Amino acid sequence: MDRDACERMDRDCPLGDVRERFSLPEGVLYFDGNSLGALPRTTAADIDRAVREEWGRGLVESWLDADWFFLARKAGDAIAPLIGASEGEVVVADSTSVNLFKLAAALLRRSEGRRAVVTERGNFPTDVYILEGLADLFGGRFDLVLAAPEAIAGSIDEGTALVLLTHVNFRTGAMHDMERITGHCRERGVPVIWDLSHSAGAVPLALNRWGVEHAVGCTYKFLNGGPGAPAYIYMAASAIAAHEPVMTGWFSHADQFGFEDRYRPTGGIEKCLVGTPPILSLRGVMHGVATFDGVDMDDVVGKSRRLSELFIRLADDRLVPYGFSLASPREPGARGSQVSFRHEHAYAVSKALRAAGVVADFRSPDILRFGIAPLYVRHVDVWDAVDALAQIMAGESWRAHGTDAPDPVT
Ligand SMILES: *Cc1c(COP(=O)(O)O)cnc(C)c1O
Repeated sequence: MDRDACERMDRDCPLGDVRERFSLPEGVLYFDGNSLGALPRTTAADIDRAVREEWGRGLVESWLDADWFFLARKAGDAIAPLIGASEGEVVVADSTSVNLFKLAAALLRRSEGRRAVVTERGNFPTDVYILEGLADLFGGRFDLVLAAPEAIAGSIDEGTALVLLTHVNFRTGAMHDMERITGHCRERGVPVIWDLSHSAGAVPLALNRWGVEHAVGCTYKFLNGGPGAPAYIYMAASAIAAHEPVMTGWFSHADQFGFEDRYRPTGGIEKCLVGTPPILSLRGVMHGVATFDGVDMDDVVGKSRRLSELFIRLADDRLVPYGFSLASPREPGARGSQVSFRHEHAYAVSKALRAAGVVADFRSPDILRFGIAPLYVRHVDVWDAVDALAQIMAGESWRAHGTDAPDPVT
């Protein structure tokens, strides 16, 4: 495998020209689309229009004239096909953390006599922190169980009140079998919430077909919504009727502009809304999701796997001799859209890579992580990144960063 072969693979790639939908800086190889997705070309002008024309001239009338009022639902319906959901099952609101709280609190409140709340050791911290806070709030009614990844199914039984799992692990990229675990939970009457933050837009998802009832996820990673863009919440049509909101804000009221004194929940997925949506950020979400327009998810998944396989093969040859070991599963079906390596000096190496124009990231304690965003990462980018990394190791330029204190954001 040489660089020319990678160029040929880019020419033959069915997603070749989708990269043109993004505004990417020259000379940067971007492998952090799983942390902050790239900027779509159409986003800035539209947000500018929303500010100057819709806000500046339309003022309050833009809630209806510019469809602001329906945007949270519209954004949800745009995301639905990417996760295998139906219209009316997804809405965009708040952050992933807050959405986790909303769903978990509602499900725990109606759990009867069951004590165990199961999640994964090494899960993304916010997921665990939210559960800890809820366990506190419920005053000792629940016990938090942090199961090892391979022990999750075995930890779920008739005494389980709730399971919260992240589909793709943020450090290693290890991917759970969502359909199997969901079925396992259903047979035991256990509600499960899936966090899709590292999945949507990059791996196969069929929430409806797999019987998933509750899920949340980020829009600013593979969905390219922009920094701090609001998250989404999914609830299967069959689960919406039983859902009783815990955060009973006016945006989920049955008659919002009736201004009644008392709360009555609305009937649809809007039950999951709380307060006024961030319109400017939602516009970013619309454009981020639109980068998938006309794109076949099979092509996205196929390219993600080809790029990851290429990365792993090149790393086996050129990086393993320098002490890198693959932290991601080798089996493509068990891996999300990222390739992670362990290395003793992962942080210093990540800094040296950035100095060389390769943006990957460090995840404590020893992970160097390369996100594979199939819409814009090319085969030559993978070749060039491995080449840059091999040079950093051969020339030991990472040593210049060996004593750097960690940045507040890595
Ligand atoms: C990125 C990520 C989040 C982020 O949550 P925010 O509330 O948007 O900050 C949550 N969960 C997982 C698994 C993530 O990867």
